Amino acid sequence: MKDDLIFKTASAQRKALLAKEISAKELLDLTYERIEKTEPQVESFNSLTKELAYETAKCVDEKISKGENLPLLAGVPLALKDNMCAKNSFTTASSKILANFKSPYNATVVEKLNENLIPIVGKANLDEFAMGSSTENSATKTTKNPWNLNKVPGGSSGGSAAAVAACQSTLALGSDTGGSIRLPASFCGIVGIKPTYGRVSRYGLIAFASSLDQIGPFARNVEDAALLLGAIAGHDKNDQTSIDLPVADYSKALNTDVKGLKIGFVKELLSEGTQPEVKAAIEAALKSYEAMGAEIVEVSIPHVKYSIGVYYILATAEASSNLARFDGVKYGYRTQEAESLIEMYKKTRAEGFGDEVKRRIMLGTYALSSGYYDAYYKKAQQLRTIIKNDFDKVFEKVDLMVTPTCPTTAFDIGSKSSDPLAMYLMDICTITSNLAGVPAMSIPCGFDNDGMPIGLQLIAPILGEETMIKAAYSFEQANDFNKIAKL
Ligand code: GLN
Repeated sequence: MKDDLIFKTASAQRKALLAKEISAKELLDLTYERIEKTEPQVESFNSLTKELAYETAKCVDEKISKGENLPLLAGVPLALKDNMCAKNSFTTASSKILANFKSPYNATVVEKLNENLIPIVGKANLDEFAMGSSTENSATKTTKNPWNLNKVPGGSSGGSAAAVAACQSTLALGSDTGGSIRLPASFCGIVGIKPTYGRVSRYGLIAFASSLDQIGPFARNVEDAALLLGAIAGHDKNDQTSIDLPVADYSKALNTDVKGLKIGFVKELLSEGTQPEVKAAIEAALKSYEAMGAEIVEVSIPHVKYSIGVYYILATAEASSNLARFDGVKYGYRTQEAESLIEMYKKTRAEGFGDEVKRRIMLGTYALSSGYYDAYYKKAQQLRTIIKNDFDKVFEKVDLMVTPTCPTTAFDIGSKSSDPLAMYLMDICTITSNLAGVPAMSIPCGFDNDGMPIGLQLIAPILGEETMIKAAYSFEQANDFNKIAKL
């Protein structure tokens, strides 16, 4: 039935569009109806971009009526994390300091979405400036997990993940600095990919920690995520860290040929602290791979124990520098009461930033200050190299690594928000890939005793996206964990 199409995959939607069973405009109408119905409970969006979306849908419908070729994801609705600039629409990073900021230009990924005729339905909520693991640090609203509205959707791209899981959009983009795509994908039972650092342009992404940030796709299955990655990846002269190499055809990786593939499970990341149901689901996933003909070996990342410390020094150091631009002068919020320039800076930042952002600016400034630079920042950089070397060594022996995406499933709203350290520990399995620059993704691999989704993380060497996607696709074909949350 036509009305059910919003619960289906991009390829099903494409088929229906090409067969003229539905128009791109009608698909958007259904999407916005769904948003209207579910948004009061889920609260995924900071703003909707209807005008923009309908403009794109109109182009799609015109092309279909003229019988012209359509890009693979044309007409498929997408939610954009609200830290990526879309021209003339609000881009707030879920911060009070940017509450009224409208971007004057498009991020490169938005240009690419436009070229591919993918309608952007709205700007999705996030932890303020992408700092967090639960979306509770947003200054605008608390997004709920569509599987259980008392639980967090994960963060920082919680709005994007919840939108896809709640079928408010078929696709979404998020950004991942230490796990912000993979963690919410895992908590919301969907697929999320953090590409190799530099594979997708960061131009127009509001910077958090520039040496770690990477944009990537969310979808309800591996095929859709792979196609979306293909649509947004590629070299961009506006991003100096962009990789100048051709983009592989990820659709060719959608096969189940994993015989002989060497998969390493990281022993340090399947430890005591892991929730028993998560551990069991990962062990079952390894068995499933073995049954498909892959070879499973135990591997070690000996320095993984330093990764949280290293990440939170480097990420906060970079953030303290990146966020210096929000001073009330150039854009965004400005305090109403200040008698001098310095007082204006101080008050603007004191009033505009939330607690977590301030905590990180202070930590980062401290780590970079003279006298502490060598003890913290430089040491952390050295350890980052050592962790990267650990990865290189493991990838001499295996094609892929497997870990849980997170040691637990989604937690209750409010249960960790007053304990930043407990929140930081949620990132233990994800942040090492950002430190090493390698691609990683999360796919659904089961449910806990309360019916909350569990995520399996696959990690590949630099530019190993095709192998990673193939392994993810094979797992999805052999199992049945991609479900729709009942709302
Ligand atoms: N949870 C991590 C943090 O708070 C990662 C955030 C991200 O990837 N943007 O920094």
